[in-house]
Amino acid sequence: MIFDQARWTADDDERYEPLLSEKADREVEIEDSPLPDELTRDSLSLPDPAEPELARHYTRLSQMNYGVENGPFPLGSCTMKYNPSFTETIAAREDAAIHPDRPESTMQGTLALCHRLQDYLGRIGGMDAVTLQPPAGAAGEFTGIQIAKAYHQHNDDERSEVVIPDSAHGTNFATAAMAGYEVVELPSDDDGRVDVDALSAAVGEETAALMLTNPNTLGLFERDIEEIADVVHDAGGLLYYDGANLNALLGRARPGDMGFDVMHYNVHKTFATPHGGGGPGAGPVGVTEELAEFLPDPHVREVSGGYEHYAPEHSIGKVHGYYGNWPVLVKAFAYIARLGDAGLADASAKAVLNANYLAEQISYDVPFGPFHHEFVASAAPQDAADAAKRMLDYGVHPPTTKWPEIVDEALMTEPTEAESKRSLDQLAAAFDAVAEEDDATLASAPERPAAKRIDQVVAAREPRLSWQALGE
Ligand SMILES: *Cc1c(COP(=O)(O)O)cnc(C)c1O
Repeated sequence: MIFDQARWTADDDERYEPLLSEKADREVEIEDSPLPDELTRDSLSLPDPAEPELARHYTRLSQMNYGVENGPFPLGSCTMKYNPSFTETIAAREDAAIHPDRPESTMQGTLALCHRLQDYLGRIGGMDAVTLQPPAGAAGEFTGIQIAKAYHQHNDDERSEVVIPDSAHGTNFATAAMAGYEVVELPSDDDGRVDVDALSAAVGEETAALMLTNPNTLGLFERDIEEIADVVHDAGGLLYYDGANLNALLGRARPGDMGFDVMHYNVHKTFATPHGGGGPGAGPVGVTEELAEFLPDPHVREVSGGYEHYAPEHSIGKVHGYYGNWPVLVKAFAYIARLGDAGLADASAKAVLNANYLAEQISYDVPFGPFHHEFVASAAPQDAADAAKRMLDYGVHPPTTKWPEIVDEALMTEPTEAESKRSLDQLAAAFDAVAEEDDATLASAPERPAAKRIDQVVAAREPRLSWQALGE
């Protein structure tokens, strides 16, 4: 399948669809203002589009974008599943968005939703208590490691190191460093899993925690997880579970049962909410009974006749305002309630089946296996980033590239349960077409989207986030 993306160009300009602010054609006089003169202006230019112009503007912008509503989006580790729109309808209800400073007695429904979501997530992860506050997976990691740190300090047991496998997500290393720990990096064994001997050698009296995701970022289940948990616990450390890969285990296995003490859930990956471009998300954190009194404040609990906030006894404090990123949590609640136990287990089964089917279909080498919800193919001798750009020309979003580094020119691919066999076959055809192409074609790709190859380094390091910067 070839994909030609719409491209809307202003007549007098190389650039695409002009911003509304560039079409400003109404001068508004500002008369009375309660603010001091130096803070106000006399007039303001505002765009004044007719309704059809406005509708066309946003439709055109959406046509120059690529999302899961355009085609498959197998961005590994990110779980870019299609999110059913009923969750949006529920989150948009007026009674789903009340001011959190209202008296508790007038917001019992909201508190009940918090409490039920805490309970659902606790049961899904095998955890005794859950906070909804952290606004992203990375924020959940930071919260979880702060809880681990507070626990050790409470026991007068200062520790200085966090152990992390080399296949882990970059946020794990950043979290440990931001929390003031030395990072001890653990090499994977030849199978792509944790090497238990290397782990035993790395942990000791200074180990505050091991951070691990299971299945790992290669999509491989850590079969020795019980032994791994024993090694860390025997040394007095805690086990942190990076929940980004929970889509592989949903309704089938629980981190709490594997020996993990604290975990985050990437609600925006596993339980609906479109994400990307930095948000919005939510990263609730689950803990065992032993750690529950260290959770952020406020926490929601059930009391006779209703629900209330309270501050856990040894709380680490606030990590975000109120209960967290609220509409994202409402969507997660709606998604879990609609799917139920059987639906969640079915989702993980299909996610795993789809990853294994796709891994079998493609001609790129896939060095490890068998997989759970994702697999890592090797584009070598092609450059993985160039191959990924070319996939856009075939109407599919590329996989995650060049990570984990243990696979040469990695294409980390996660089709998710949302794709049908038809779209998996489309994906496989795109991979295979790109696998046949020469370096020159790949280096100049993509040809067909509205935006050609952009300078990713400049885009990341020198973003121009204001329309005013366009004129500079
Ligand atoms: C996405 C991800 C994270 C970080 O989560 P955010 O919600 O993006 O902050 C951590 N670990 C893994 C394995 C991930 O895929």
